[in-house]
Amino acid sequence: MAGPLTIRTFTSNVFGQNAYLLRCGAAGEWVAIDPGGEAAAMADEVEASGDPLTAILLTHAHLDHLEGVAALAERVPAPIHLHPADRPLYDAAPQQAAMFGHPLRPPPPPDHGFSDEQAFRFGGCELEIRHVPGHSPGHVLLYSEPAGVAFVGDVVFAGSIGRTDLPGGDLQQLMRSIRERVLTLPDDTTLYSGHGPPTTVARERATNPFLVPHFGGSRA
Ligand SMILES: [Zn+2]
Ligand SMILES: [Zn+2]
Repeated sequence: MAGPLTIRTFTSNVFGQNAYLLRCGAAGEWVAIDPGGEAAAMADEVEASGDPLTAILLTHAHLDHLEGVAALAERVPAPIHLHPADRPLYDAAPQQAAMFGHPLRPPPPPDHGFSDEQAFRFGGCELEIRHVPGHSPGHVLLYSEPAGVAFVGDVVFAGSIGRTDLPGGDLQQLMRSIRERVLTLPDDTTLYSGHGPPTTVARERATNPFLVPHFGGSRA
């Protein structure tokens, strides 16, 4: 684990979605990223630590990334942050759930809107917010330079990229986001994705079949 961040991963059984808890310092504040199907386990971990949860941060507003917001916020209340361009998707979460035939407790409204290149601070740690549209209009990634990690949601995965066939998706926009906002991170940055195992910028640039030059000329 690089830097002062502790990272815990919680993978949901139904969607295989990765949620994360980050703690700044050995004892310090927690933030939750994309609470999904394992929100109860996330709340257990926060409560057991005795440290506060100070924010719920959403990379984007698809059902699998927000289905645990209501349950987590009920146990350990914290303000919810979402890019405003994904607010329509967020408000349509009940319809997303109906589409998948999936039960959902509607999440409370977001408290704060992310903006591009915002510095989000918690405890003594800082995350750079980068707007990376394409998979959804208001998708963001969260980057910690000192820890050498980025939480990239459904923008890029080990060996794949996010789908763009859902409402608001745009393949050209996604490729531009990856080229300009992900592949420009330092090579050894660990990428924590919304699905699947962690990877690195260097590995995806070299081996991701969607990022080789013949596909949209998208290598950085
Ligand atoms: Zn998604
Ligand atoms: Zn997802």
